Amino acid sequence: MAIEEHSGVDVLIVGAGIGGLATALALHQRGISCRIHEGVRELRPLGVGINLLPHAMAVLEELGVAEAAAAIAVQTAELAYFNRRGQLIWSEPRGRAAGYAAPQLSIHRGELQLLLERTVRERLGDDALRMGESLVGIANDARGVVATFERRSGGTVAVHAPVLIGADGIHSAARSILHPGAGEVQYGGRLLWRATTRAAPFLTGRTMIMAGHSRQKFVCYPITEPDTDGLQTINWIAELADDAPVPPAPDWSRRVETAVFRDRFEDWRFPWLDALALIDGAEAVYEYPLTDRDPLERWTVGCATLLGDAAHAMYPIGSNGASQAILDAAALARALAADGATARALEAYEASRREATTRIVLANRGNGPEQVMELAEQRAPDGFDDIEAIIPRTELEEIAARYKQVAGFALEQGERS
Ligand SMILES: Cc1cc2nc3c(=O)[nH]c(=O)nc-3n(C[C@H](O)[C@H](O)[C@H](O)COP(=O)(O)OP(=O)(O)OC[C@H]3O[C@@H](n4cnc5c(N)ncnc54)[C@H](O)[C@@H]3O)c2cc1C
Repeated sequence: MAIEEHSGVDVLIVGAGIGGLATALALHQRGISCRIHEGVRELRPLGVGINLLPHAMAVLEELGVAEAAAAIAVQTAELAYFNRRGQLIWSEPRGRAAGYAAPQLSIHRGELQLLLERTVRERLGDDALRMGESLVGIANDARGVVATFERRSGGTVAVHAPVLIGADGIHSAARSILHPGAGEVQYGGRLLWRATTRAAPFLTGRTMIMAGHSRQKFVCYPITEPDTDGLQTINWIAELADDAPVPPAPDWSRRVETAVFRDRFEDWRFPWLDALALIDGAEAVYEYPLTDRDPLERWTVGCATLLGDAAHAMYPIGSNGASQAILDAAALARALAADGATARALEAYEASRREATTRIVLANRGNGPEQVMELAEQRAPDGFDDIEAIIPRTELEEIAARYKQVAGFALEQGERS
């Protein structure tokens, strides 16, 4: 038998991930009361590196957490694409180096999440976070929504509130409840091995690199400034095509040995980066299948809607997962401030974000800005002497510019969502 309670707040947020926590801060800043219900008992610094694009950093600046985030991150200054032989295809300045007012940050996902959690506790109080409560039901009624949570300590609780935001990640229960039959997690046919390694800086010490093509790729970037030992924490992802019809379950914390993929990267030792040494130096390696979800035709049902990965899980291409969740949070707070905690506000939020994020999900299925690596592989599988003869500069520029437009952070679009 469920205990019944009135939440006493305007907005229930399900999930204390990057999206849910940013939403709580954005609502609080606009004087809208909210509470987060999170399934795990305690947040731990899980995950590896992620990137925050300038338009998401502009939101964190407005929320007053950008400085604290920058203090535990690296300001990314360059993005460079190489072929599988380590030959440069394209590079471009990033963040402030590219003229944005806000930086692009490379940061540890778990550290960012804990920073946001601390800030929520400081500003909203400990009661704003209810841990160990997993969403299992949503019902719209005349007063708003009734959400049912299963407690880790046992039993269930049914909570009333005017509106509910499902920010519960790629495996979202809110999405399944609101949109039954809207499809499962989709496998993109590639396996990713993610880790961090302490190593000496490479290239500018603030460069994010991608090498290879869609069937074999290595991505890496530093997420800490050099320590007194001169070493940085380098985040890396090794990726291989996988033709198995059934992928391993998408579990962010699934550890494997490097033996599973190491031999395929044995000759990835470039003059400017020793990828094999990074693989060999890793403390723990996590396997994750490349997955996303089909875009939904609608997010909102009555007084409940979705945000972040729950709304638009996308391939980790183009540094958009956390950035788009943060942009959602800002858009939702704006809509609720304008229209109150109502179904109408949720519809306005969805109207401002659903099509934009659908375009990114689909662009990422076509490899997004990484198309340049694919073109180099198709046109010059044995390498090249002059990239200009393989892919004209105008074509490279056009691919980079088009993706920035789709993801909403082209310089001319400004840095607000
Ligand atoms: C443990 C973990 C590790 C990750 N590591 C990486 C990484 O290394 N690199 C990367 O690019 N992305 C990673 N991600 C995904 C990344 O955080 C998101 O793509 C992005 O930040 C958008 O965040 P989100 O808030 O929408 O979802 P998430 O960050 O996934 O947060 C969702 C939150 O909802 C909670 N939750 C889930 N189900 C329920 C439920 N039924 N009831 C209540 N709470 C629920 C989860 O515990 C989690 O805290 C990771 C996610 C998780 C959960």
